[in-house]
Amino acid sequence: MCTRFLLLVGSIIGLSCNPNPENTTTPIKEEIPSNIAHDTSLSISPQQVYQPDKNKLYIYLTFDDGPQHGTEAVFNLCKTEGIKASFFMVGLHTKLRSDGMALVDTVRSAYPQFLLANHSFTHANGKYKKFYTQPDSAYKDFMLAQTCLKVPYSIIRLPGNNGWVLSDTQHLSTLVRAIGKKLDSAGYNIIGWDMEWHFDKHSAKPVQSAQTIITKANELFQENKTFHANHLVILMHDRMFRDSADLLKLKEMITGLRANPSVVFETVDHYPGLKWLNNR
Ligand SMILES: [Zn+2]
Repeated sequence: MCTRFLLLVGSIIGLSCNPNPENTTTPIKEEIPSNIAHDTSLSISPQQVYQPDKNKLYIYLTFDDGPQHGTEAVFNLCKTEGIKASFFMVGLHTKLRSDGMALVDTVRSAYPQFLLANHSFTHANGKYKKFYTQPDSAYKDFMLAQTCLKVPYSIIRLPGNNGWVLSDTQHLSTLVRAIGKKLDSAGYNIIGWDMEWHFDKHSAKPVQSAQTIITKANELFQENKTFHANHLVILMHDRMFRDSADLLKLKEMITGLRANPSVVFETVDHYPGLKWLNNR
């Protein structure tokens, strides 16, 4: 969720929505599997409440902190596998890579297979307490990301905090209560997570094995320990899978999860109880 270099870069680069003028990288060519690209039922229209199938188990693969090393690899793997995924991206990270904004554009334009969502502009510069105790500036930070990244829908994940705000549900720690309520009043949904595939703080490599994650996911479903029954949000980070050997672990996890015929991979805009998505 946070990196030390973020803090450094955040202090070096001002809060500006000015994309890198040298960025002339062509976005990755879209080749969404035909079964997804032509299935319009997978995209829900404005003001429509998505009705999940009660006989299914929904898994939301969410990847945080992009665009960064690993984003393109994760995107391409999910595209090849034909499954949906959501990317919570950080505005500041578009400035760290020459192809940063192109990666954001690629994810945004790949809906409904992929969803671009808001993970703030600065990622709090790694100083979460300071960030969340200044809700007015934190709010501006999220709005800046919304504008810079051209985030299509009103869906946010708080940096470094597992908070939730849906239409009739709130789960906010004391630290993030003020910003959560502010975003709620502005019509935003906040999506947390049920389980995390952790990464090593130094190498950014996955800590648990793919099988451990599969087993944990199945346990949460069976024991009804997800935030919403039959809906499981898994938090991961793009950078965990920048190496091909680690990307194979992600593929192994996907293969293991989809072995259950009841499992459906969805994007978080289909999560139960979302407010009307203003920017849809
Ligand atoms: Zn994060």
